[in-house]
Amino acid sequence: MTLEENVALVKERIRAAARSAGRDPGEVTLVAATKVQTSDTIRRAIAAGVTICGENRVQEMTAHLADNAYDGAALHFIGHLQTNKVRQVVGRVDLIESVGSAHLLEAVEAQAAKLDLCQDILLEVNIGGEQAKSGVAPAELYDLAARAADCPHLRLRGLMTIPPIAQGPEGNRAFFAKMYQLYVDIRQKIDHNGTVINCLSMGMSGDFEDAVREGATLVRVGTALFGPRPPMGKA
Ligand SMILES: *Cc1c(COP(=O)(O)O)cnc(C)c1O
Repeated sequence: MTLEENVALVKERIRAAARSAGRDPGEVTLVAATKVQTSDTIRRAIAAGVTICGENRVQEMTAHLADNAYDGAALHFIGHLQTNKVRQVVGRVDLIESVGSAHLLEAVEAQAAKLDLCQDILLEVNIGGEQAKSGVAPAELYDLAARAADCPHLRLRGLMTIPPIAQGPEGNRAFFAKMYQLYVDIRQKIDHNGTVINCLSMGMSGDFEDAVREGATLVRVGTALFGPRPPMGKA
C-alpha cells in the first residue's frame, strides 16, 4: 500500500465509523502523526489529502517548519511539552493538544502574552490514571479548564487523551466513552467568551474507529498511514 492509498483508506474508515454511530462524518478530522517522517513524506501526505499534521517533538517540528513541510495543512503539537520548550511551540502551531498541567498552562499563557497572540489549546486528560503518563486527572479537570478559560491569551478548544495500551476485545472503548462524558461536561460548564469547545482528540492507529464511535472529532494516526516506525525512545 502506498501512502496515498493509506490516506484514502484511513479517511474512508473514519467516515464509515462515523456513519455506523449515526454521526456526521464531517465532524471528524484526521490528524497525521508525522513523527520521524521526512519533510518530503509530510508533503506527500498533504498532497494526498492530509489537512492536519500532528508533531511530537519540538526539534523535528522546528526543522520541518524551516523546510515549509507543513504548507497547505494545519499544525498541531501533540507530544509531551516541556516548559523550557514552550517558546518554540507557542504561536507556531494552530493547536497545542497536550496541555496537561497548571504549570504548563501558565507557561503557555505567559509566552502567548509575550507574543501578544491567542493560542488555541486542548487539555490532555490522563484517563487511565497511569502513574507514568502526563495529563490532568479527571477529578482535577474542571479546575484546570476554569483556569484555562481565565487566561486571556488562551482559547480552550477541548480535550485530548492517550489511553493505556489497549487490553482485551473491548480495547479502550470505555475510556473513550468516559472522555466523551468529560468533554460534554466541560462544554456545558465552561463559559469561554463565545469560544467554541468542539475538539475531542482521541484514537490512534489501533483504535481510531472505536474513538470515532465514542465521539472523537480528531483522531491522531501515524502507523496506519506511514507504516511502522523504527523503535525509539519515549516521545
Ligand atoms: C505517535 C502518536 C500517535 C499515532 O500513533 P500510531 O499508533 O502510530 O497511530 C498519536 N498520538 C500521539 C500523541 C503520538 O505520539
